[in-house]
Amino acid sequence: MTPSTRFLNFTKVLGLSPHPDDIEYGMSGTILKYPDTHFDLVCMTKGGHCDETTSRNRHQEMINFWEGVPNVTIHIIDFDAIDEGEDVIINYLEKNILTNHELILTPSNHDNHFFHKKINNLGPALCRIKPMSLMEYFTPSTSLDWVPNLVVNLENEIYASKKQRLQEFKSQINKTYFSDFCLDSFHSSLEFTKKGLHWVEKFKSNATILF
Ligand SMILES: [Zn+2]
Repeated sequence: MTPSTRFLNFTKVLGLSPHPDDIEYGMSGTILKYPDTHFDLVCMTKGGHCDETTSRNRHQEMINFWEGVPNVTIHIIDFDAIDEGEDVIINYLEKNILTNHELILTPSNHDNHFFHKKINNLGPALCRIKPMSLMEYFTPSTSLDWVPNLVVNLENEIYASKKQRLQEFKSQINKTYFSDFCLDSFHSSLEFTKKGLHWVEKFKSNATILF
């Protein structure tokens, strides 16, 4: 059987990233693994609580991360979703970014970061009219009671490429969660390691529609 080059056969996917690095840390291996699925990645913030210069640097880090990856388009919204009401954010996404996407990806509702949770809340609202699938991706701030129901196996080369690209987040690289040890724990779990899957990315499908 030839391996699929599309993530669950989806053509066009919208991924919401609260900060620059959330999508990259959580699920970039999947994006690299499925080159025939196009991912529109939206960075929902100016870069966290930092000054404008630093924010620009963090966006540049995100842009550097995805250099040479043709199935990704980065969208950096021109306001900070932390400060806006859900209605304003939804309206902006529907007017400017959301088109014929088949799947929306958000952080989980078991994420300990308040802003990640806020972004999670947007998912059902964005899917309310069109028949779109909705899925959560694992992040380092997701609590242990979140249980994935879909995992993507990352071949060694894909995982190595992801780790290499993560080095672009120079402003974050000294944080504990960027250490090799944390990265390896994030991408593994006994349940899958014992079956021979060394590196995985974890997802929870809330409602998946396959056409
Ligand atoms: Zn974040």
